[in-house]
Amino acid sequence: MSFFCLIDDKHVPLYRILWVSDLPHYCGSEDCEREGWYEVKLDAGEALWATREQRDAALEALESWQGGMSDKG
Ligand SMILES: [Zn+2]
Repeated sequence: MSFFCLIDDKHVPLYRILWVSDLPHYCGSEDCEREGWYEVKLDAGEALWATREQRDAALEALESWQGGMSDKG
């Protein structure tokens, strides 16, 4: 099991992720480059943009990571 997940072109440690968007981004702006991408909020006020595949993989990794933690506790 990986401790990192790939968001955009970055390998992000799972513990840095605060939340993951359920719906793809849409703001109505014609020159928006992130329409259809999923926002991933990190600590320190940062945010990254994930494809749907990356979003799903990140959620799966987070679930097994958190599940692994509660097994120990
Ligand atoms: Zn936008």
